[in-house]
Amino acid sequence: MIDCGEGTQMHLLRNHIKISRLRHVLISHLHGDHYFGLIGLISTLHLFGRRYPLNIYAPAPLKSIIEAQLEASETALNFELFFHPLGLNDIRIIIDEKKYIVEAFPMKHRITCHGFRISEKPKPIRINKELLPEDISIADIGTLLKGESVLHPSGEVKYDAAYHTLPPKKSYSYAYCSDTIYDPGLVPYLRKADVLYHEATFAEDMAPRATETFHSTASQAADIAKKAEVSRLYLGHYSTRYKDPTPLLHEAKQVFDQTFLSEEGNTIILEP
Ligand SMILES: [Zn+2]
Repeated sequence: MIDCGEGTQMHLLRNHIKISRLRHVLISHLHGDHYFGLIGLISTLHLFGRRYPLNIYAPAPLKSIIEAQLEASETALNFELFFHPLGLNDIRIIIDEKKYIVEAFPMKHRITCHGFRISEKPKPIRINKELLPEDISIADIGTLLKGESVLHPSGEVKYDAAYHTLPPKKSYSYAYCSDTIYDPGLVPYLRKADVLYHEATFAEDMAPRATETFHSTASQAADIAKKAEVSRLYLGHYSTRYKDPTPLLHEAKQVFDQTFLSEEGNTIILEP
């Protein structure tokens, strides 16, 4: 999970997402709209009898905030919370799982703030099931999955890897830039991401206000997307002054056509 605002639990419920599966929570920065839902979520996990540890990656002060909240309510959690502090200029891999990594990079906001990039690791080659002989052994399938052909003892090819296998599926990446001033310095961290979420708090006529408050306009977000050559840009974090964010979308699309508005409950399908 990336960021945990006040309404998070309601949205998880509404979208049928099992919170028991949650293992990592990334908090970009400590403005309330990005983490005020966390203590509630932790309390719910506790009430549900969670046993597995929960990892939290966030600016260092979050640890004492959460610990003070737990202490005040005399709550001894029945699972462990592991805090992983993110420093001001941290640029590093913070999670290395079997199928993906997560990198953190610094953003320019009023307080310490990080963006994140989640990248799937290269996927294995696949067996072409339609061309698979029925009597093939498990060991021979194992050989093909390594990308090697199966040979007869004579050295003759029994199953050709090029014929019986399919190339790996594409590995996708998602980059997330919550609150940031327009900063082309972010481009190297976002390069060629399949999906970029970038805040777009204001329309272009509010550009000075955006700079003043360390936020971005929609077309600035689009400019970052264009420079980083991402496949799709999703805008979000619209100021409450925009009852309908469509004008923001129009402005951004003039700079980067593959721009979309993120909306609550959106699911993005990337597989072709
Ligand atoms: Zn903020």
